[in-house]
Order: sequence, then C-alpha cells, then structure tokens
Amino acid sequence: MPGELALIARIRAAAAGRHRHLRLGICDDCAILAPPPGHELLVTTDFSLEGHHFRRNWHPARSVGHRALTRGLSDIASMGGTPLAAFLSLALPRSVNPIWINDFLDGLLTLASASKTPLAGGDTSESPSDNILADIVLLGSAPAGKALRRSTARSGDRLYVTGSLGGAATELAALARSPRRYRNANPTDDHPHLYPQPRLAVGQTLLRRRLATACIDLSDGLSTDLAHLCTESNVAADVQAAALPLHPLTDSLSAEQALHNALHGGEDYELLFTARPGTRIPRSIAGVPITPIGVLRNARKSAPQVTLVKASGDRTPLAPQGWQHLL
Ligand SMILES: [Mg+2]
Repeated sequence: MPGELALIARIRAAAAGRHRHLRLGICDDCAILAPPPGHELLVTTDFSLEGHHFRRNWHPARSVGHRALTRGLSDIASMGGTPLAAFLSLALPRSVNPIWINDFLDGLLTLASASKTPLAGGDTSESPSDNILADIVLLGSAPAGKALRRSTARSGDRLYVTGSLGGAATELAALARSPRRYRNANPTDDHPHLYPQPRLAVGQTLLRRRLATACIDLSDGLSTDLAHLCTESNVAADVQAAALPLHPLTDSLSAEQALHNALHGGEDYELLFTARPGTRIPRSIAGVPITPIGVLRNARKSAPQVTLVKASGDRTPLAPQGWQHLL
C-alpha cells in the first residue's frame, strides 16, 4: 500500500478544522464527540466494495469517494438527522495508484465539507486481495425521540418523494457502455449516479416542522424501499405510475424502461416519506421538488403490499425487485 503514514497525514491535514460537536478529531486513540444537548445519536455503516459498489475502470475515483459518503449521509437524512462525524476505514491493494487515493479523498472530503461532516478518524490497511474496500461509519444526531422512522406510517397517509427517480440507473447503464465519457464528469453538474446529493436539508425540515409521519431513503429502488416502509408500518400502498417524477435522463428511454428505472433502479438517494392527508406539504423543500405519488391503505393478507396504478386505472401488484448494485 502506498505509504500508510503519508496517507494518514494527508487525511489528517484535509480533515483538519474546527467543528462545534467534535471535541477531538484525528490525533488520539479515539475521537471525542459532544452531541447537542437533548439529542440522540444516529449511527450507520456502509461498505463500498470494488466490484460490487463500484469499478475502478468505470467510476472516477472522485465519484467513489463521494458515493461512499453519500450512502451514510442519505441514511442520516432519512431519519431527519444532522451529521456529526464520519469515520473512514480503507483497505488498499498494492496496485492502487496514489493519484486514485488522492482523488478518492477529494471526492469524499468535498462532500464532507459541503455537508459539514468532519472526518474524525478511521483506519488504513493493505488489502490482501486486489480489491479496494472503503468502510464508512457515520454518526449523526436528532432531537431525542423525534428521529423519523420507517415504522410509523398509517393507513390514509399520502406518499411523497423528493427530487426525481430513475436517473442513477439510467446514468449507470450509460457509464457501463462508455466509461471514458464520464472520466472527467464535473461533480457540480447533475450526475445522479456518480454524484448523488443526500437530502439532508429536506429530512431536517420534515423533522423540524413535523410534516412527515414516516421516512426512508431510496437506496435500493422505490419498489424495494417502499416495501420496507410498508412492512415496518404494517400498511399497503397504491402508487400512481403517472405521478412519478422521472429524471430527465430517462427521456432517452422507452416509456416502459423509464418507468422500470424509476421503480426499480437503485441509488437515487431521494427520500420517500408519508404525511397525514390534512398536512400541507410544500411543492419544494430546501430547493428540492416534492411530488405526491400515492396513498397508504390497510394491509390485507389477500391483497398485494404495493400496487401500481396506471393512468388507465389498471392495477398491478408491484413486487420489490432487489437492486443488484452493479450490472
Ligand atoms: Mg437507508
């Protein structure tokens, strides 16, 4: 592995800076965090494994760093939380170019800085295989007892989604076809697969204004994540196909394929939330469009958990189609 001490020094220098709730960062055996008074800790962990979550010959290293952190930040967003600190553990094979590591860190630290998430520690090791492994632990906070959950939706609630759907799966398919086109993709442009934006401000607003009854982030695709929410809340759902906000990238696809990507394509990292029918939900929150897409019903053994309702009124059961992270 390219110089472990140099790598740690680089991370430490890049991660330096003062953060209100981080008493001690990368300079001792442990980090010390002081969560805001009256708050609870949220903790989530995510692997990014080469060959499963990314490919070195497809994904720019910057994107790999950005996406590794996005996965954790999106989980914090779905609970309405605020990130406190991130911890990064890296296993790097000898074959990794130091430029790759620099770009990976740039991608991760740029998003960390934009989301005010200090990198507060981690570990590095040489990987015995030829695959890179990046493991992120993310800590966040939410007012005690107030974090949004997936288990608290009720029959009659309306179903909403942030942003747009299907963009990540559509861009991933294009990336697989011609990775060179994306080598210098600009992280500040809209790249739903390479640089998804975790919806932290939306989640925090939903919590603060008590707009949502339940919330989950769309990491595995609408059909799968909505099924999780329905199972945990013991409800069923009707989704209006014509209401789904399709990402503009899906314009190049057939209507059927665009709908498929919106329903089953994973990694859009939008929020799916529910609200009481009488709650007025703004058309956008923190600059992100909010779209009503359906309604919750009582769960019944004899009826499908999630039903897709076409514009014609046709109803078809929508089975969760587990997201395979790479094609
Ligand atoms: Mg999640």
